[in-house]
Amino acid sequence: MDTSENQPGVQSPDLAAAQAQIAALEQALAEAKAREERYRLLSDAALEGILIHERGIILDANAALGAMFGYAVHDLIGQDALILAAPDTRPLVAQKIAANFAGAYTGTGLRSDGSTFPIEINGRPILYRGRAARLAVIRDLTEVLAAQEALRRTQERYRMLAEHVRDVIWTMDASGRFTYVSPSVEYLRGYTAEEVMQQSLDQVLTPASLAQVEDYLQALRAGSNDPDLLDPDRRYVLEQPCKDGSTIWTETKVNLIRNVDGRPIGVLGVSRDITERRRFEAALAQERTLLRTLIDNLPDSVFVKDLQGRFLLNNAESLRRMGVSSQEETLGKVTADFFPEKAAEWDALEQQVIRTGRKLVHEEGVIRSDGDEHWIRSTQFPLYDQQGTMIGLAFINQDLTEQKAAERQQYELEMERERTAVLERFIGDASHSFKTPLTTMRVSLGVLRRTDDPAKVAEHLNILSLQVDYLERTLDDLLNLIQLDRDLTLELERLDARDLIDAAVRSGQTMALGKGHTLEWQRPDMGFPVFGDFSRLKRTLDVILLNAVNYTPYGGTITFGVKSEGRQVCITVADTGIGIPDTDLPYIFNRFYRVDPARDVSTGGMGVGLTIARKIVEAHRGWIKVESVPGQGTTFKIYLPVAQ
Ligand code: ADP
Repeated sequence: MDTSENQPGVQSPDLAAAQAQIAALEQALAEAKAREERYRLLSDAALEGILIHERGIILDANAALGAMFGYAVHDLIGQDALILAAPDTRPLVAQKIAANFAGAYTGTGLRSDGSTFPIEINGRPILYRGRAARLAVIRDLTEVLAAQEALRRTQERYRMLAEHVRDVIWTMDASGRFTYVSPSVEYLRGYTAEEVMQQSLDQVLTPASLAQVEDYLQALRAGSNDPDLLDPDRRYVLEQPCKDGSTIWTETKVNLIRNVDGRPIGVLGVSRDITERRRFEAALAQERTLLRTLIDNLPDSVFVKDLQGRFLLNNAESLRRMGVSSQEETLGKVTADFFPEKAAEWDALEQQVIRTGRKLVHEEGVIRSDGDEHWIRSTQFPLYDQQGTMIGLAFINQDLTEQKAAERQQYELEMERERTAVLERFIGDASHSFKTPLTTMRVSLGVLRRTDDPAKVAEHLNILSLQVDYLERTLDDLLNLIQLDRDLTLELERLDARDLIDAAVRSGQTMALGKGHTLEWQRPDMGFPVFGDFSRLKRTLDVILLNAVNYTPYGGTITFGVKSEGRQVCITVADTGIGIPDTDLPYIFNRFYRVDPARDVSTGGMGVGLTIARKIVEAHRGWIKVESVPGQGTTFKIYLPVAQ
């Protein structure tokens, strides 16, 4: 630094004073040097490039500037500052210098190797060593711009994302004003994002939904630090008005935006349209209500249990039958809590359904809490989830008490009708059965009164005797039937079927011969023991033999037989008679049933013989079968259990 200009001449003879002056000057010089050194150190330490020029000619520069542009600092001194600017930036720089502009502007820097880079130039006039110069602070913007670009790209990506999802993404400041709304809002609400940005909250939410978020908004406005607000997964289901006057339902997730101190300054929200889902849920709920109403109005008791037998659901009738008034009283409870004495039995049935997976129906009488006995039909079946796993059992219990009573009444009514019909038929049959022989008897009596002819007398006495026999038999049949209906006590003994047949053949022989029939019976050597009432079983064979005789034209053959069939003894009576049509076969054992009712009584009885025969056999735990070929003959088979 040159200070000679300001140095006064040494005119004073006072050497001491002159020396003091020199010392002061030297000190000033040293201070100035030190200052300049400090300045150099400072400017070299700076990251920004510092340049001092006078009308564009570089006077000084720091190390950072040299490094930034690729020059040694001493090479730059005396150069035109414009060599540091790219050609397109030079006019701007020249203009700023000419205008002695104070402030920052950007441009493109040019390195010594010809490469360019973005720079910010902050220029202002300064006094440099007493001369009017300019100071330029130059900042390399390469990294700043790259960071800005990266930020812009990221923002762009988020924006793209926000703008391409159906969900509406939005941000709001602490005062409740929207700062961003993604365009998808238009799909949801019909308003464009720009329109929504202008809307106040009471235009965005229905009053009820607004009330729902009021606390949250208040906390936000107050900058509250409520930990509840920190919950990053806060959700609301909100109803929002649409442009067309309708409303939609959204599920809205909100996240607080905080400043560096953690104070909430806004909200980031994502709103999703759940109108369809709500509609579906509402439909489902409605369906549930409908089903509930339905099952509650059923007269049957309907309930559901889990696999541990705990009640899950009972309809109104079920609750009533259990003697409780609300569902809560049954929840979690089991059969034993309500019907302790039935629990073991019913639990076993439930276990059976769980084990087999099959529906089970059973009927039984139960005593209800009201003490009445009820007849119940219970239908229970397994319930499965969508994966096919059994999850419980459903029960439908019908009360059959009234139905049973009605059925019984109906049955009794029918029985009564049947009895009346039987009586009418009986009176008809009986009068016919009695009238004909009585007429015959009257005729014979008339003849007897008038004649002395011994032959005629004998003939008519015989007729009278036959008719009396017939009447007696008919009356016997009727009495028998009545007695058998009332009480059928058997006098059981161990007997041999062969002896039964012997007895029947013996007593029927004359009657058969009278009609020219042959009775065939080959008594086997082997015995056929049965337990039975001899006289009753003999009566059965009598009835069958009588029919065989009556319904076989003159000169027929009636064959008896006996054999073992498994654990049964089978007695057969086969004739060569007129046979029984297939259509009549199922009915011949019914009382008063006769294949041809108009048939002459002399060839048959009142249609009760086979009824009696079957009653007797069944009382012996046996059964009668009949096989017949019309025109060829009929075979009766009597089965009786073998006596051990
Ligand atoms: P009925 O007193 O009329 O013989 P039954 O009850 O003994 O009454 O028999 C009912 C009907 O079965 C008879 O009226 C007859 O029509 C028919 N029937 C019974 N046995 C024979 C048989 N061996 N051959 C043909 N028809 C028979």
